[in-house]
Amino acid sequence: MSGQLAGQVAIITGGSRGIGRAIALLFAREGADIAFCHLDDAEGAAAVVAQIEALGRRAVAAAVDVADLPALRGFIAQAQAQLGPCDILVNNAGLNLRGAIGTITEDMFDRVMDVHVKASFFAAQAVWDGMAARGRGRIITTASQLGLKGAANIVPYCTAKAALIGFTRALAFEGAPLGILVNAIAPGPVATDLTAQLGPDWAERTGAKLPIGRVGQPEEIAAAALLLASSPGGDFFVGATLSPNGGDIMH
Ligand code: NAD
Repeated sequence: MSGQLAGQVAIITGGSRGIGRAIALLFAREGADIAFCHLDDAEGAAAVVAQIEALGRRAVAAAVDVADLPALRGFIAQAQAQLGPCDILVNNAGLNLRGAIGTITEDMFDRVMDVHVKASFFAAQAVWDGMAARGRGRIITTASQLGLKGAANIVPYCTAKAALIGFTRALAFEGAPLGILVNAIAPGPVATDLTAQLGPDWAERTGAKLPIGRVGQPEEIAAAALLLASSPGGDFFVGATLSPNGGDIMH
């Protein structure tokens, strides 16, 4: 078996479309078996499973809301029972609820925090002991450049994404001595279903404001995930936040 991730097992939350799908397919192309979950996207999930299997890798897909902790833990346990111990966890599932601060309800706030922050924390906890026992593992979390730069009418999302960068940095301290490397990706604007909700001219309008003159594609974010997941390429990244963002913010 060949590939940068040959023989490894990756668990990806939110893998039925967009950035998570691109990561799943790239990791499978590099030799990993893939388990992913999704939210009510059986059709998208079935297509991704078929593509992974066509690459000669094993695939497990489950309809699981990551904010439902027993279901999330069950998914991770089932994935490892079927594919073997998790080498790479990608916390990617996400959603965006927009509105001015006065319109955000407690339920909306909790939903955004639970799907991004609570789920990432407890997914990491669920794979932690196994990775520690084997002395190696990679945990990659999809934050967002909006967690770094902020924006109007999107405060809960920016709050959650900034929290994920803090989560990554803190957990990286615990992981590095154990051989578990914890990092994040803070993508700039990427053409996916999530951003398609923002209107038909979103990509053109948004891309025109970036130094590179266009929005990103999911595969361009997956490439950063592969770097962080692979060895030796990713071996010296600890608590980093990589920002493929077309030059929107440079740091
Ligand atoms: P998307 O809507 O295209 O795909 C989201 C995926 O997550 C789908 O597979 C969906 O089923 C799944 N999902 C959503 N909520 C879930 C839940 N509660 N439980 C389980 N699965 C769930 O979105 P995307 O643009 O690919 O975003 C992926 C990640 O990247 C998100 O964390 C998002 O915040 C982040 N991100 C996106 C952009 C962008 O411009 N698209 C930029 C920065 C960060």
